[in-house]
Amino acid sequence: MDAVVPPQMHTPIGDPVTERAPVAYETLEAVFEDIRSHPLYDHELHGCLNCGICTATCPSAHYYDYSPREIVQLLWTENLEGIHDAMQEKIWACAQCYTCAARCPFQNSPGGLVMILREVAIKHGMQSAKDALKPFTRVLMKVISTGNQLAPNMITGDAFPDWGPNVSKVDAPLKLLRKAIPMPTLHTLDTAWEVNLKTSIELYTIWEETGVLQQLEAVDPNLYDVILDVMDEKRSEYQDWLDEQAGG
Ligand code: SF4
Ligand code: SF4
Repeated sequence: MDAVVPPQMHTPIGDPVTERAPVAYETLEAVFEDIRSHPLYDHELHGCLNCGICTATCPSAHYYDYSPREIVQLLWTENLEGIHDAMQEKIWACAQCYTCAARCPFQNSPGGLVMILREVAIKHGMQSAKDALKPFTRVLMKVISTGNQLAPNMITGDAFPDWGPNVSKVDAPLKLLRKAIPMPTLHTLDTAWEVNLKTSIELYTIWEETGVLQQLEAVDPNLYDVILDVMDEKRSEYQDWLDEQAGG
């Protein structure tokens, strides 16, 4: 005789507090499977006493409706709806300081688990991921297209309105300030170091092979298209250079 499965196992109840539409059970399972199969998952989660030490020492828990203890408990008890719900907002409150990892008696890393949840939120193109990454479009464009870091002249109040009022403090005489920094690589406002064409092409290949670009496509299709154009341009530039060398 077939085992009787309680009907609630197949009927998502949704979130009665936020009144979000219920998510299909298959989706909840697929999301959790991506989390559980992450190569770092077993390294970051070993059990949970529910002691709350992580939350007591977490700076984000002081300022936001966020608790690393809650995140770990949701994962440890495999609460699929709760995990999915936390991915809609809470996981983006973590500051990635890893104080929790240093304190947990079980040697869990709640901050590391949050990183996994964020990766999976991006992979599934969740709206929370799109919203969280939106202010970083210029940063992503710069880092991915040039293989370099954010230039200081890009950090202005206009470009990053959500970074708070202190961002305007770096909107200063940057050329002058940079000259005062005694490292030659920091004397430019454009790039911190030279990334040659060959290295750029290698970086593009790494980002393609590791799925970084597919993730970007899921959260920001416009930026993805722009970056593909940049990549095509640099690849053909590199090919021209190779042809020139072979011909010469
Ligand atoms: S993750 Fe660690 S510190 Fe946090 S509640 Fe669980 S056992 Fe305690
Ligand atoms: S890494 Fe995140 S969860 Fe852990 S203490 Fe820092 S802000 Fe809190």
